[in-house]
Amino acid sequence: MPYDFRESERKWSTFWKDERIFQYNFNSKKPTYSIDTPPRYASGKMHIGHAFHYSHIDMVAKYHKIRGEEVFFPLCFDVNGMPIEVNVEKKYGIKMREYDRQKFVKLCEEFAEGNIQAMISQFSSLGITADPSLYFKTDSEMYRKYTQISFIRLHKRGLAYKGKHPVNWCPRCETAIAESEIVYEEREVSLNDIKFSGDGIELIISTTRPELLPACLAIAVNPKDNRFANLVGKEVKLPIFGKEVQVIADDEVLMDFGTGAEMICSVGDKADLKMIYKHSLPFLKSIDEQGKLTDIAGKYAGLTIKEAQKKIIEDLKTSGNFISSSRIKQNVGTCWRCGTPLEFLQKEQWFIKSTEFKEDLKKWADSLEWHPIFMKKRLDDWIDSLSWDWVVSRQRYFATPIPLWECKNGHTVVAEEEQCYVDPLIDPPPVKECPVCHESLKGSEEVFDTWMDSSISPLFNTFYDRDEKLFSKMYPMSLRPQGQDIIRTWAYYSLLRGNLLTGENPWKSIMVDGNIMAPDGRPMHASWGNVVDPNVLLDKFGADAFRYFTASCSLGEDTAFRERDLVRGQRLMNKIFNLVSFLEFYKGKQDKDDELRPADHWILRQMNAMLSQVREAMDSFEFDRAIKVAESFIWHDLADNYVEIIKHRITGSKTYENFYKVLLSSIVAISPIFPFIAEDSYQRAFRSREGKRSIFELEYPGEASFSSDDAETGERTIDAISMMRDLKVKDKISLSDGVKKASILSSAEVKVDDEDIKGTIRAEVLSYENGSIEEKIQSLKLTPETYSILREKAEAFIKYLHQNPVVLNSETIEFEGMKIKREEIIVTKSYSVQGMNVNCGNGFCVSILK
Ligand SMILES: [Zn+2]
Ligand SMILES: [Zn+2]
Repeated sequence: MPYDFRESERKWSTFWKDERIFQYNFNSKKPTYSIDTPPRYASGKMHIGHAFHYSHIDMVAKYHKIRGEEVFFPLCFDVNGMPIEVNVEKKYGIKMREYDRQKFVKLCEEFAEGNIQAMISQFSSLGITADPSLYFKTDSEMYRKYTQISFIRLHKRGLAYKGKHPVNWCPRCETAIAESEIVYEEREVSLNDIKFSGDGIELIISTTRPELLPACLAIAVNPKDNRFANLVGKEVKLPIFGKEVQVIADDEVLMDFGTGAEMICSVGDKADLKMIYKHSLPFLKSIDEQGKLTDIAGKYAGLTIKEAQKKIIEDLKTSGNFISSSRIKQNVGTCWRCGTPLEFLQKEQWFIKSTEFKEDLKKWADSLEWHPIFMKKRLDDWIDSLSWDWVVSRQRYFATPIPLWECKNGHTVVAEEEQCYVDPLIDPPPVKECPVCHESLKGSEEVFDTWMDSSISPLFNTFYDRDEKLFSKMYPMSLRPQGQDIIRTWAYYSLLRGNLLTGENPWKSIMVDGNIMAPDGRPMHASWGNVVDPNVLLDKFGADAFRYFTASCSLGEDTAFRERDLVRGQRLMNKIFNLVSFLEFYKGKQDKDDELRPADHWILRQMNAMLSQVREAMDSFEFDRAIKVAESFIWHDLADNYVEIIKHRITGSKTYENFYKVLLSSIVAISPIFPFIAEDSYQRAFRSREGKRSIFELEYPGEASFSSDDAETGERTIDAISMMRDLKVKDKISLSDGVKKASILSSAEVKVDDEDIKGTIRAEVLSYENGSIEEKIQSLKLTPETYSILREKAEAFIKYLHQNPVVLNSETIEFEGMKIKREEIIVTKSYSVQGMNVNCGNGFCVSILK
């Protein structure tokens, strides 16, 4: 009966859950290995990136469990923020700002909760056993309490402040956006040349944003630009609006962009902003929170950006100030959520100080262990690029409320820690009135950026402020696993807050995953039709096969999806199943006492090497190396060679025991990657003897002892057998058919295990034949190195060997004053003499006789 992966997955995932195999034990004496699980965002269904990423994390968890550690691997979800709000708006066809706030939040909670149930069952179908006894959601009052408390503590230390500062603003989502949330996109825009005049002078400026004309504060030119040298300091009039602005010089103006003269507006982009600061120009608010023009735009007030742009260009044409326009490509900062181009707005916002810790942040990042190391540079580059503090307030509904109240004069009263969790829109402030002006207080309507919640996960996980004893035991955590796309958010903010609040890094090491790309190497996009659905794959190939593919991707690199890897994974899964069936078939059929033979020592030596290589690879998160080594051992050493050899003697008790031990060790080694087939095998063939409830309660196998000499003999035996088996195939003899004679041809004595050769090849006689050097010479080949020494003497050398074959027995062969090493002369792998096929390998040749 073949392996039924569906049945196995159903059975063992239920078993793990019911038996609580992966539940963290707080009383355990084992060392803890703790994983800062990425709280999975509860906005929708599983895509291949999730399946990929969480499989890697689960492999780490399971591996550390079988290494004898107590693994802390919480099941958690991120349940805050805009994507959920947007989904709820879509689902119910409503608009957040036109809906009752508390009712809207309820709908968001319900929507997320519905997704969470589905996501938990997706995890389980992938064999991911995050621990439900350590469950948390970032929208629970318990969790939000610590988001608020951590803010209050930073505020007390002057590290959180309210400031009037330009922020990136999404006019569609009507909220501030952090720098890390900006997505830069190349878009085609119009570059318009517009004529300004005044005082008998005229100049033409280029702008992509004519709708900002009413907010124009100055015209800037480069001081090195001769075309405008005589205009600097003069005044020109804004077309249509008539207001006078000065021509100023600034060496950051690009002389070759457009006409070389540009408008400085309040506030078009970051370059404008820089000049506004540099030249002490005023801030004018020409665009409001909804992306509409304000009163300073006169008759254009109330128009959207697009409408205003169209109307102003029309009017410029009428007034004769419009010269021309051309299409150019420009990098536009857009909202990560909805793709709307962002505006700069001068707004009062809450900030957390971060730019003053840039150097510290780099030091903190330095003291982390990075896997792979090159990901650290991404964080360093991000830190270097930062110019503003972290804006943490959002003008949305579904998130943690900022715990404070304000009076009409703008004084703020921050909540007391004891009040938290607190919703200032519902709960009363800690004082009756504003302590400064005695006016009444109103709860803040603002909420936190959701990274304020998720970036305290290492604090929440380690019982920060809840249990001092546990905290000192658990903090810092062992590992932060995460995607590379959130280095500048989740990793960065966690590192900042962990250190600001505790003075220590939140984890010892960080593992950063790359992305899964479409089979064509591009990112997956519904509109490109190249999206791969993991659910379809799981149904067709099984979770272990999917995890095999996941393991075969190098950590930190982007990998194109390859279905053939799932096919390979499935084959390996079935191979393991068949090996276990073979073991089961011979169980209890041992009728003779035997001794370990050389091939048994050889397989133990190979197994030890495999076990230590897999261990090293898993210790350094090189899943690809681990699966390669384990697969090669199971497939070639164990199945192709060893099993074939012991078939003729598995009724011997020691042989059976040896196979039992090697097979179990291999399955344990691969169990973190292949959990279902591993558990299935264990329950089927090993549990009754091993006693533990689950394969994941066994320990990673230690070294087996073996004799090196015997292992060497075993290796030669394996070689001889495999060369002879090849000959059987070549001579069209069935592998199960017997042969009269098998021969080993060699000039020196070859030590092999005669009985295993005869038993496996089914040869009546095994003979050793000497003097076969003559035959070997017939197919001598020179290595390129030797050939380059001998050059035109090569042929003469071959002839010399034919005449003096005995020299092949010495290490170095002297020929016409040259010294040639014997190992530089190789014999081809196989040849025929007198109609007989010969195979050559490790220093000897073999032949068989029908
Ligand atoms: Zn938006
Ligand atoms: Zn006040």
